[in-house]
Amino acid sequence: MHVETLGNGHPEYTVVACVHGDETCGWHAFNRLKASDVTPQAPVKFVLANERAFKLGYRFCDADLNRAMPGDETSEKHEVRLAARLHRELVGTTVIDFHSTESRGCPYAIVTGEDAASRRLARSTGLDRVVDMSHLGGGVTEHVTGVAVECGYHDDEDAASVAHRILLHFLAAQGLIDRPYARSTPEVYEVFDDAPGRGFAFVAQNFRRVEEGEVFARKEGTVRRAPAPFFPVLMSTHGYDDRIGFMARRAGRIDGE
Ligand SMILES: [Zn+2]
Repeated sequence: MHVETLGNGHPEYTVVACVHGDETCGWHAFNRLKASDVTPQAPVKFVLANERAFKLGYRFCDADLNRAMPGDETSEKHEVRLAARLHRELVGTTVIDFHSTESRGCPYAIVTGEDAASRRLARSTGLDRVVDMSHLGGGVTEHVTGVAVECGYHDDEDAASVAHRILLHFLAAQGLIDRPYARSTPEVYEVFDDAPGRGFAFVAQNFRRVEEGEVFARKEGTVRRAPAPFFPVLMSTHGYDDRIGFMARRAGRIDGE
C-alpha cells in the first residue's frame, strides 16, 4: 500500500485507487492532479491500495480486497492483511474509491452500508446514476462515509480521463478546490439479487429495464429470462466467473442536502 498526502495536516478525505490492482484509472487521475496547478485547500490523502497487485497487473493476489474488509492482520492472505491496514487509513475520513469495470454503462457511483451520508455524498460525484449495493454487503466504503465510482471500461484509456474529471468535481463539490461544479440528483438502482451463471453472454443493456420473460443472457442454446422486470447493473459477458451480474430495482432520486 502506498499512502501520500497533498497538503499539510490531518486529512479528512481519502481518495482510493487500485483496490483492484488492474483498475488503474484512479491512480492516473491522482497523478494528473498532482502534476497540475490545482492545489486542495485542505489536506487530502491518496491511497494506492493494492500496490502489489497493481505492480503485477493483477486484480488481486490471494483474495478480492473489496470483499476482505475489515481484514485480519494475522491472515496468510495478502489482501486480508492489507484490508486491515486499509481500514485503518480510511476510518474517520470521507472516502471516494475509484474503479473501472468489464461491464458497460459507466460512469456511475456505488454506495454500500445503507447510510444516508454516503448517499448524499454520491451527489458530489456529479454522476446521474447510483447503484446501491447494500443488499450484498462488503466493499471498502461499507464502514465509512464513502462512495465508489466505476469510471469506464477496463481497456478504455478514457476511464482515466473520466476518473480525473470525477475527482475534480468531487473535490470542488466538497469545498476542497475552487472550481465550478453542479451536484447531481442521481437515480438510485438498488441491487436486490445477483444473476448467477457461468459462461453466459449478456445480451441486454445495463440500466435499461428488462421485462418479464425477456432474454437477458445466452449460452449454447440455453437462455436466461427475467422472472420479473428488473434493471441489469454490472452485468457483462466476462466480468465474473460465476455470475452474469446483478439485478436492481429503481428506487427514486437522491436530492436535497
Ligand atoms: Zn473494481
